Amino acid sequence: MTKNNLKCHICKSSRCKKVASEIREGKYEVYKCLNCEVEFIKDYKEINYSKNYKTRMFKENSSDKLKIEQRIYSLKNTHKFLEKLIKRKNIKNILEIGPGMGMTSNFLKKKFPKIRISAHEIDLRNDKFLSKINYENIYRDLKDIKKNNFDLIFCIHLIEHIINPHIFLKNIRSLLNNGGYFFAITPNTNNIYFKTLPKKNMKIFKKFFYHVAHPFYYNVRSLSYLLNKYLLKSQIFTVQEYSLKNYFNWYINGSPSKDILDGTYIDKNLEEFDFFFKKNIDNKNYGSDIFSLYTKI
Ligand SMILES: [Zn+2]
Repeated sequence: MTKNNLKCHICKSSRCKKVASEIREGKYEVYKCLNCEVEFIKDYKEINYSKNYKTRMFKENSSDKLKIEQRIYSLKNTHKFLEKLIKRKNIKNILEIGPGMGMTSNFLKKKFPKIRISAHEIDLRNDKFLSKINYENIYRDLKDIKKNNFDLIFCIHLIEHIINPHIFLKNIRSLLNNGGYFFAITPNTNNIYFKTLPKKNMKIFKKFFYHVAHPFYYNVRSLSYLLNKYLLKSQIFTVQEYSLKNYFNWYINGSPSKDILDGTYIDKNLEEFDFFFKKNIDNKNYGSDIFSLYTKI
């Protein structure tokens, strides 16, 4: 354990260990809390999060149309999960936090024309996409939203960007109806890549995985620890979103896929291998993403 004065922001433990000293943008230290297992960038409070940090989700200069197509493809599992949930729980009033280009809201609105969906989005550059979706409201500030009002609040790849997760979840709780659901997806630090890549390629993967846009990094344990403080667990599990091909590219070449489509697409004749590869990983909760569904009681 490294001697330092760090305190875990999630559980307040001072038992923290350095896990990386270089990230995508250069020299930043990443620590792991040995109690709740959350990982965090040491100096995240000094980073200017209003600056635009690239996510590397898309190729440089991709057209909007291509970005939308790729995003929809990469959200297949998410959409399947939400569709089932909405049908099963008879959900009528939804809030999406950080919809980006609004692909998921758009999908749900088409599937369920009668549901009401609102959005909370602070990035004004997304307005050109969001204005085309039939939202009830687009909010800029969580404080402006009616309390005890939503059957479902969800956020996809957002919670890792939140610099004060405790305040964020207090807000979520206050906006949900009793019995309402909170669904979040975030990258999993306890993933198959960290478990199995050869040392040299692991170093490259670490540098790719940690980046300034994400002050916090969760696994099933740390995310449960945080969510359990505010809500009751319904389901938490991992989904390996990236393909067998993406894994072996990291394993052999130590390099990322070109973009999110390249990282998730699999040839027809490899589909069966890909299926069992993912199934095995998810049985162990080593998948690339955590799907968490919690409820307010
Ligand atoms: Zn902790």
